[in-house]
Amino acid sequence: MKKGIAASKGYAIGNVVIKEEEELIIPEDLIEDIESEKERLSKALELAKTQLSKIKEKALKDMGAEKAAVFESHMMLLDDPEFTGAMEMEIDNNKSNALKAVDSVAKTFLMIFESMEDEYMRERAADIKDVSNRILLNVAGKMVGVEVQKENTVVVANDLTPSDTAQLDKKKVVAFLTNIGGRTSHSAIMARTLEIPAVVGLNDITSSVKNGDLVIVDGIEGIVIVNPDEATVKEYEGKRDAFEKEKEELKKLVEVKTVTKDGKRVEVAGNIGKPEDVHKVLENGADGIGLFRTEFLYMDRDDMPSEEEQFESYKYVLEKMEGKPVVIRTLDIGGDKQLSYLPMPEEMNPFLGYRAIRLCLDRKDIFRVQIRALLRASVFGNLKIMFPMISSLEEFMQAKTFVEECKAELRAEGKEVAEEFELGIMVEIPAAAVMADELAKHVDFFSIGTNDLIQYTLAADRMSEKVSYLYNPMHPAVLRLIKMTIDGAHKEGKWVGMCGEMAGDETAIPTLVEYGLDEFSMSASSILRAKQLIME
Ligand code: PEP
Ligand code: MG
Repeated sequence: MKKGIAASKGYAIGNVVIKEEEELIIPEDLIEDIESEKERLSKALELAKTQLSKIKEKALKDMGAEKAAVFESHMMLLDDPEFTGAMEMEIDNNKSNALKAVDSVAKTFLMIFESMEDEYMRERAADIKDVSNRILLNVAGKMVGVEVQKENTVVVANDLTPSDTAQLDKKKVVAFLTNIGGRTSHSAIMARTLEIPAVVGLNDITSSVKNGDLVIVDGIEGIVIVNPDEATVKEYEGKRDAFEKEKEELKKLVEVKTVTKDGKRVEVAGNIGKPEDVHKVLENGADGIGLFRTEFLYMDRDDMPSEEEQFESYKYVLEKMEGKPVVIRTLDIGGDKQLSYLPMPEEMNPFLGYRAIRLCLDRKDIFRVQIRALLRASVFGNLKIMFPMISSLEEFMQAKTFVEECKAELRAEGKEVAEEFELGIMVEIPAAAVMADELAKHVDFFSIGTNDLIQYTLAADRMSEKVSYLYNPMHPAVLRLIKMTIDGAHKEGKWVGMCGEMAGDETAIPTLVEYGLDEFSMSASSILRAKQLIME
């Protein structure tokens, strides 16, 4: 058995086809006839254009516009004077043969991209490699891509380029495995879109299997079993069939509006931490974003994100959601979430300490930047602002007044702010649940944060393994608080969502539906299953 990185969910059983790496020898010879060498290069570039435009068409059909855009950018590289222009110059100035010219320009570009700090930019080196390889093979008159003849093929390669991946024929290829790559590489992203199970980062898979070997690919655990016994094959056939059946069933629900048996329309939304997460949420048929944990914008960096940066992130999500509700939660830092550049006091109980709205109301300098960014973004969609860790009406009123202040400030600067947007609170402290009927008179909505609500109600630290047996979402005290919150809000005509893990918990959903919860928000991968349960 071999363990790698699970890059695309699902199970497959099939026979190995190893992608041969074309060993291209780059000749060092200098050339005499500059014009005919430039002609060779230009023909190879023309051919690459034709090939890429076909791949782009296929990608558009199989994966949609966003993924097809990768090949658009490949085609643009072909026209980029800094890239292909430099190849011509290499022939002109150094009398390099066409292969050598392409190779040396590609190497320079690769060196630049691969040494970049940013992981995303480093991954883009794969695009440069992909395009240059295509040009090289075209110049040499060799075939580009993976040719698969038989059904039930598991493609095994050192690495798959994005164009290799896009060209995979789903009727024949049931999975792919690579030595290198990570979850964010293009080929991994495309595998998920194509819904082909994949395990990447296996180090030496190309030398651990032979053409024709039978392999089991477990894209959920990131496991590969080579030449399994009969019993194991049977076991995985069962897993594969169950997985496929469930997936098919659930897909039917992407466009379906969720309505309960007694006719109530319920919203099923997604939780996100980064703006890009919005795509997965949409693909899974969400009605909106129920929680954007903005603290992730503040993490893994050395300084606070600026107003402009935050504005761009919020605007991006609002625009992508095209008018669907987007609940953005203000900074919830403290407790288990710390920022390296913001020193916090030493506390005995950080979860009961200086965090979330408490910190923001104390550090208006930090809060102002975020509220201004949110207000400026408000004109680009259906924004709802939510404050975390509210324990009293005073706290909410202070936060609301501060929003008003920032709004006036922006308008005085001539900046546009939406006329109407909702202001709500997380109900995650028992005090807020108990006082829900009072709070509901002032807020526009509640979202129940069960992750914290449970730990505070049962005095059981959500991070502690030792007391995890006490951490029970279905404890009657927790259920009563949830019911009080929903009833309190409904009495005032306000809506209630839930964005803690409990909202996607299959055992809790029936009870929450019965209590009349209006919105369920969860990670993208749980959405379709939750829709199904709510409708049942
Ligand atoms: C919660 O407490 O339930 C919640 C959604 O917020 P977080 O998990 O970010 O504390
Ligand atoms: Mg919380």
